[in-house]
Amino acid sequence: MFKSLLIANRGEIAVRVIRTARRMGLKTIAVYSDADANAFHVAEADEAWRIGPAPAADSYLRMDAILDAAQRSGAGAIHPGYGFLSENAAFAEACEKAGIVFVGPPPRAIRAMGLKDAAKALMEKAKVPVVPGYHGDNQDAGFLAQQAEKIGYPVLIKAVAGGGGKGMRRVDDPAQFGKELASAMREAGAAFGDERVLVEKYVARPRHIEIQVFADSHGNAVSLHERDCSLQRRHQKVIEEAPAPGMPPEMRKAMGDAAVAAAKAIGYRGAGTVEFIADASHGLKPDGFWFMEMNTRLQVEHPVTEAITGLDLVEWQLRVAAGEHLPLAQKDIPLVGHAVEVRLYAEDPAKKFFPSTGRLARLRAPENMPHVRMDMGVREGDEVTMFYDPMIGKIIAHGETRRIALRTLRGFLARMEVAGPKTNLGFLIETLGHDAFIEGDIDTGFIDRHLEALVPPAEPSPRILALAAAAHLKARARAAGADPSPWSATDQWVLGGRRAETVDFIVGGVPHLMKIEPDAADPTLIRIDDGASVVTNASMTADGTLSATVDGARLAAAFVPSSGGFTLIHEGIATEFTVVNPLDVDVASDADTGALKSPMPGKIVQVLTEAGATVKRGAALVVMEAMKMEQTLLAAADGKVAAVNVSVGDQVEAGAVLVAFEEAEK
Ligand code: ADP
Ligand code: ADP
Ligand code: MG
Repeated sequence: MFKSLLIANRGEIAVRVIRTARRMGLKTIAVYSDADANAFHVAEADEAWRIGPAPAADSYLRMDAILDAAQRSGAGAIHPGYGFLSENAAFAEACEKAGIVFVGPPPRAIRAMGLKDAAKALMEKAKVPVVPGYHGDNQDAGFLAQQAEKIGYPVLIKAVAGGGGKGMRRVDDPAQFGKELASAMREAGAAFGDERVLVEKYVARPRHIEIQVFADSHGNAVSLHERDCSLQRRHQKVIEEAPAPGMPPEMRKAMGDAAVAAAKAIGYRGAGTVEFIADASHGLKPDGFWFMEMNTRLQVEHPVTEAITGLDLVEWQLRVAAGEHLPLAQKDIPLVGHAVEVRLYAEDPAKKFFPSTGRLARLRAPENMPHVRMDMGVREGDEVTMFYDPMIGKIIAHGETRRIALRTLRGFLARMEVAGPKTNLGFLIETLGHDAFIEGDIDTGFIDRHLEALVPPAEPSPRILALAAAAHLKARARAAGADPSPWSATDQWVLGGRRAETVDFIVGGVPHLMKIEPDAADPTLIRIDDGASVVTNASMTADGTLSATVDGARLAAAFVPSSGGFTLIHEGIATEFTVVNPLDVDVASDADTGALKSPMPGKIVQVLTEAGATVKRGAALVVMEAMKMEQTLLAAADGKVAAVNVSVGDQVEAGAVLVAFEEAEK
């Protein structure tokens, strides 16, 4: 076996690969861009090499820089992780040429599965069921429309070079086909430099079920069972589990056999995932699944497979790459209990899951939970930047049954404390507790269908407001030096000598004016809004653990100060409070509609308005791209455009004024 391993990736997957490599006695070598000089994966590795500036194209996607680091560090092998260069056949080839082991399949196997049309054709030949549709060379719009008719609506247009759900359009109405085709082709051209598409049947009640396969270089291949990844937004996975709810053993066998046949057909080696789409309208059936694509790498959601098999897939990858035989035969692969994974993202579920950036002012989790695993890419204090994927990490729970695993995971998440960027933590907690999800009544439309129930309300409850009032007073007392012992369990309220006062919070742009009144007799009691809530015995530790009794219930929350106020985290839900200083007159009018500002740093990809234009509220003004996602920015009110300050290709900062409006006519 090689003695050292370079990990050509970042974030959680780099950290995860390092963990196993270290356990196996290998020296670990990280690479990093300028944005990652102090990143978690760099700190975890034995040695780290700079490969370039922050943008991925100048660092993590640069083969020459990575190979140079490998050569200078004397790395025996390179693990590509997922994303970046992991499915790049030329990179695998370049490693081989440089005499460095590429931990992945042979270049020709990567190529065989690289394009969805060729892969489907190849699978048809290997007798693997594929989604019915057209995947030939003819790209004429009229011809493709005819094919769509023949397949029968609804159909799905897919970029042949696609990935990450890009260049994909579902079409229900034949009249929309031409328009959707043009837009899919445009997006595919921009994202992959290849406009070609295929058209296939849109499967009814689709469930995404994939098979983990493994092959060695001695002709052996096995399946490590299935994962269900049906919980998706924008065709991207958020929650994954193994085994698939309601999976009949004969279907598991049929899918496993098909996936192994697929791997053998292309002379596969290492870890791979064969993705299938299943029709769940009448339950799962052995003849109701079709090949979608094969990902020739380790998958984000591999930990659920590790949990139910008790195996370390990265260890298998390294051993197979070193020429060893597969450690187990098919009949010996365990399947124990049930595992569920959630992807914790820096994103805002209330804003269509738009990515969020910033410093993680708080990132804590319960300790000593034996059935929960965390694969984190960042630590408290680290930054989620606009340059890479906004995934903070993954949390995985294993249990005897699905219900136990779901409950364990939900309980764990509810006790996590995350503040800084907006995250989907509250959304994940709601989803894991949703009745239909617990029943296993899932398909890829689940999130869209139940969105309203899954996104936590923006409006804070009276309880949270009461806790916020207590936190505010405690923090102020401490700042004034009136609370010399931060560890004291209970102490008196300090209300600046006044009998009652009003505190002015803004939450999600909405003002909350609260009247706070101390009790004359009981110094540990305050009344809020004339007794609407009563808070007693509040205390706050130096690191921001707040406890207080609100209307009889003893509650705990985390208090994290921020520039204009603080964040309060209660049962996993983070609520941001802006504290209005009575001396600042203008803070509340921050939600002015006089300008369209950039919500985050990013690149302008389209400008849809011009100076002098009259726009209606809701009109699309600018399209920007940030963190691999496009976002259309809309007019907040009717108005007349005074100036457009950006053009296509501009890089903008958060808060930059993109479009200015004329004063509204009264
Ligand atoms: P999966 O089916 O496992 O979600 P995807 O193909 O969507 O796989 O991508 C795998 C992971 O790699 C995702 O988390 C994605 O965000 C990340 N990824 C994909 N492409 C890139 C890239 N160019 N740079 C950074 N991360 C990427
Ligand atoms: P990507 O390369 O972007 O991962 P996939 O072909 O794997 O593309 O498809 C991504 C997702 O789109 C799937 O997980 C599934 O939810 C949905 N999807 C793909 N093909 C179909 C189909 N024929 N019918 C219904 N949904 C589909
Ligand atoms: Mg896919």
